[in-house]
Amino acid sequence: MIRLIGRTSHANTTPDMSMATLDEGAALLDAVLESARAEIAVADESGVIIATNSAFRRHFFRDGDPTGMRLDQLVAQTDQQPMLDMLHLLAGALHGSTELSMFSRETFLDTDRWYEVTAASLGDHPGAVLRAHDVTELVHASQNGSHSRTQDVLTGVLTEQGLRDALRQEMVRALTTRCVVMLDIDQFSVIRQTLGYEAADETVRQVALSLQRHVPQGGHLARMMGDEFCITFEPQSVLDVDQVSSALRDAVRQPMTIRGRSVRITASVGITMTDPDANLDLAMQHAELAMQEAGKRGGNRCVVYAPELAEPQEGMMRLWNALRSALQFRQMEVWFQPVVSLATDRPVAAEALCRWHHPQFGDIAPGVFIPIAERNSEILNIGSFVHGRSAEVMNVLRSSRTTSLGNFQISVNASPNELAWPEFAKNMLARIKANDALPEWFALEVTEKALQQRDPNVMVNLQIIRDAGVTISLDDFGTGYSSLERLRDLPVDRVKIDRTFVATLMENERTERLIAAIITLADELGIDTVAEGVETSEQAAKLRSLGCKSAQGFLFAPAVPDSELVAVLRDLSTASARRPW
Ligand code: C2E
Ligand code: MG
Ligand code: MG
Repeated sequence: MIRLIGRTSHANTTPDMSMATLDEGAALLDAVLESARAEIAVADESGVIIATNSAFRRHFFRDGDPTGMRLDQLVAQTDQQPMLDMLHLLAGALHGSTELSMFSRETFLDTDRWYEVTAASLGDHPGAVLRAHDVTELVHASQNGSHSRTQDVLTGVLTEQGLRDALRQEMVRALTTRCVVMLDIDQFSVIRQTLGYEAADETVRQVALSLQRHVPQGGHLARMMGDEFCITFEPQSVLDVDQVSSALRDAVRQPMTIRGRSVRITASVGITMTDPDANLDLAMQHAELAMQEAGKRGGNRCVVYAPELAEPQEGMMRLWNALRSALQFRQMEVWFQPVVSLATDRPVAAEALCRWHHPQFGDIAPGVFIPIAERNSEILNIGSFVHGRSAEVMNVLRSSRTTSLGNFQISVNASPNELAWPEFAKNMLARIKANDALPEWFALEVTEKALQQRDPNVMVNLQIIRDAGVTISLDDFGTGYSSLERLRDLPVDRVKIDRTFVATLMENERTERLIAAIITLADELGIDTVAEGVETSEQAAKLRSLGCKSAQGFLFAPAVPDSELVAVLRDLSTASARRPW
């Protein structure tokens, strides 16, 4: 027998409706609720439980009876997780028109039971119904490994392997056009950081559940990894593709209740159509590219795959493949750009800058290939090559005796990844030694970003190199996030004022004040200053008046191959000798 409170004010009852009719209605409802293979509770619009079935009472109230109680009273009385989740879900459904769903776990005496819970408003009738379904067996089966290869433990949907198996079997039966949809939750890392890992898992479970409802008949849903899902189905028409992908995106957008908190999320969706005999991997890659594009455009949208989307990716792959053999095929060179003293106009250093000439692609700028090399160990090979060449060139310069070198240095750049490599310092010093050079002939240019890394190897490497006598120079200063004051704490001997400041020096008074402040602080700390990107004599004069020690830029010389370096340095020295300062 269900517990039902008669409600004479119900929209569908009339004041003269007889008690007999009400009883019949109650008996019918009783039969319906008892026959359902789920635990069920119904609440009216004021949040009072008006009906429950015996399965619900047995599981969640140990045969007690919550009928007639308000949801907020029940919430105050219970500390049971599934019950709290359910009550919040039911309350949510009373105030909204959509169906809400979640997985909830109950832990009792170290044993877990899992429930799939949904709550929905009663359509035109005031009130809402809650259904809880025990899915413990399913979860256990997948956790015990019997489903784990093909069925996702967290959500119960297919794994990537499961999806591939299913599609392979289907393709044997019939070759049909398929739609592949990839879906990724936007800003998922923010959800994880703000709500915690368990709530993030819960979110993924609920998203899976919502998506499952919109997968067309015969289609599949799989969780690929993390918060990424793949849906495949055979569309009946183009309209079908549109409708299904929008429905999937909308399903994710419905507010969800995660551990009692209302959470709203959006998703980036990528879509592609496959030919009947298409390569499945390629189709998935295309859908993923389209999904990434949707994310790049701000998320919460669907993007259909187009071949243009693959171009940058393919271009990057081609470059990466070419980069791996660039040193072997002697396509890399090191060029040198002089740095001059602003006091004497004489060259005091040269920066080693890597150049790559590819026989088919032509000259590739370091701004393009260094970031690619930085993503893997190729940057270490490039670094070793530059250190070796710089040491060789230094020996040539010293033996040429064409310029008075004094404390002349070659400065080399180091990327954050290189500095984090445990062997970096050892390797650099070994290269210098192997070429009969001395550490004090060199400076190492590092960026603020490299110094902000948490990796302890960075500071250890810097310390070893500095102790050996190499000057540490802070490159592109001012472009990072650290304040001017941070200069006090950094283990550096020199700062290079970024060329973006020099470019606006003559028009912008604030820039002038900023450069003046950098120079004053550096002087106070005994740190040397170099201005980058000096292109006009007005800029050089202004920097000199502000007390900047040296400068580098097209005004003096561009980067040149080592074969031209001696001549360029000689020209700069002679020109300086003719200047009045
Ligand atoms: P960076 O260390 O700031 O190097 C200075 C860049 O400014 C060089 O560009 C140089 O050619 C350019 N430049 C010099 N004078 C002027 C000027 O007056 N005006 C303008 N507009 N630009 C000027 P490049 O050679 O394209 O190098 C770009 C960046 O690539 C470098 O920036 C450096 O961070 C990186 N890089 C270059 N070679 C290497 C290398 O061997 N290893 C590593 N890790 N990074 C490198
Ligand atoms: Mg540099
Ligand atoms: Mg720089």
